[in-house]
Amino acid sequence: MSDGFPALRANRYRDAWCGEVLPDKVDSNARVAGWVHRRRDHGGLVFIDLRDRTGLVQLVFNPDEAGDAFELGHKLRSEDVLTASGPVVRRSPETVNPALPTGEVEIRVSEAELLSDADTPPFEIESFSGEVSEEMRLRHRYLDLRRDRMREALELRDRVARAMREFLSGEGFMEIETPVLTRSTPEGARDFLVPSRLQRGSFYALPQSPQLFKQLLMIGGFERYFQIARCFRDEDLRADRQPDFTQLDIEMSFVDTDDVIDLNERLLAHVLGRCGVEVELPMRRLSYDEAISRYGTDKPDLRFGLELRELTDVFRESEFNAFRQAIEGGAVVRGMNAGRRELSRGELDSLVDEATELGAKGLVWAVVEGEGWRSPVAKFLSAEEIAAANETLEASEGDVLLCVADQPLISAEVLGELRRRLGERLGLLDSEANALTWIVDWPLLNWAADEERWDPHNHPFTSPAGGFDPDDPGAARAKAYDVVWNGWEIGGGSIRISDPEVQRTVFKTIGIDEKQAEERFGFLLEALRYGAPPHGGIAYGLDRIVALLHGTESIRDVIAFPKTASGGDPLTGAPAPVDEPQLRELGLTLRGEAGRS
Ligand code: ASP
Repeated sequence: MSDGFPALRANRYRDAWCGEVLPDKVDSNARVAGWVHRRRDHGGLVFIDLRDRTGLVQLVFNPDEAGDAFELGHKLRSEDVLTASGPVVRRSPETVNPALPTGEVEIRVSEAELLSDADTPPFEIESFSGEVSEEMRLRHRYLDLRRDRMREALELRDRVARAMREFLSGEGFMEIETPVLTRSTPEGARDFLVPSRLQRGSFYALPQSPQLFKQLLMIGGFERYFQIARCFRDEDLRADRQPDFTQLDIEMSFVDTDDVIDLNERLLAHVLGRCGVEVELPMRRLSYDEAISRYGTDKPDLRFGLELRELTDVFRESEFNAFRQAIEGGAVVRGMNAGRRELSRGELDSLVDEATELGAKGLVWAVVEGEGWRSPVAKFLSAEEIAAANETLEASEGDVLLCVADQPLISAEVLGELRRRLGERLGLLDSEANALTWIVDWPLLNWAADEERWDPHNHPFTSPAGGFDPDDPGAARAKAYDVVWNGWEIGGGSIRISDPEVQRTVFKTIGIDEKQAEERFGFLLEALRYGAPPHGGIAYGLDRIVALLHGTESIRDVIAFPKTASGGDPLTGAPAPVDEPQLRELGLTLRGEAGRS
């Protein structure tokens, strides 16, 4: 039975939960209600496993005891809904079912009533088989939700949300709602727009996050805010995104990075602890640069080693053109010691293909043999280079070494992704282990080469660390922090800009001129002038946290009514066309492409 089930107040339908009909109830009467989970006929008796949210209990319909109810027992089919009552009796030893908490007893039905006659469901509820397509499960989600695995997922989700509220309210945080019909909040995705009927031609945007409102709440003096908030981002749906998703959103005043980190470490320890995951405090901290250079990603999985090392200096003067010329052109050579592995030539070569598919110009592999390397490029390398590379990579006999020479971020990312794949493939991940880390010291802005402009690494309200020189935007660091759990980013936030002049300068640097800034964010700039406390916060992806706790890759498995990967809801048919009069009212006309996907 799930945690904390309240005692039932008896009514006409029931006086006990199914999962509560235990041996201590023997010799008393119980009335239960629920769904027919399973039905068996045996020697003139009908056995029903009746299911409610707390579990299963066996009902026995015996022609000698059940009277009129026997007729009903005989007719029952899977998923019919009924209420039944009768004495609780101990089962004979050979019929005890040790797999069920209620398996030592049964209810001998003396009275029963059919409350709802169910059609045959399109798939079995009883077993969670992968054979049912996800489309079908979502089309009949209310049936899918009756299955153990979905019920457990949503119970876990509820436990996580409750633990969050419990902890934050204990720390003086207030839960405050912010609007869903609002203006754009730039988090780097496209907005969902809602046309206004009353102000034709104007649109609300659905919030990509409550970012600006939580800052205004700090300016409003609330000091400590949180919200379990729905956010909306119109992205091309990658494997595991939802157009609407849930964040635990937090903001606090008179704080700097360490204060936010301290509170959040205790929050994580509390919430994950409630779900059986122990968090060791203080958590690790890695700078963004260190994460990239050691793991090739800003969300490293720290449950295993295989760290990256830089080999640029080793190969700077190399006879091997592919390395030397690349370095002259600004490339960085990075290497990874994948350890002593028996990999075939075919497997090694396919790593080269993977690296090129991931965007690198190539990959060099080598197997350490004595003083030298067995590698397609060994003949181009001097003994000194090989020795120096071995030393940097701490290589010994039989180790497989992988090197990529490319632009700094590409060589890191490609090797980082190979590291992640090898960790999985080589079975280096201990599924019981948990590695939580902060990534700190982020760049404030990134150069978006294709658009020739600076883009905020996070969002444009993030405070620079140690000043901001508009003449050298690339050098600015951000007071930003992410939480990474086993290779997944589960949350991120920052200290905010609380000085309107700094905010203006940052806007300008990222190409939002005075006029646009006034138009889009004038209300924030104005609010910042009326006494803004230093403030900062964070947001967590609730769906992802629950998915990780539940041991599923897909966040759809922990959302009651998710959308498919193409953004549709097979249950309600959303999104759907609307009638012409509705469009007219909104002052909208559709161009020819409507209806096409
Ligand atoms: N608004 C940010 C986000 O949605 C989180 C934060 O900075 O608090 O990612």
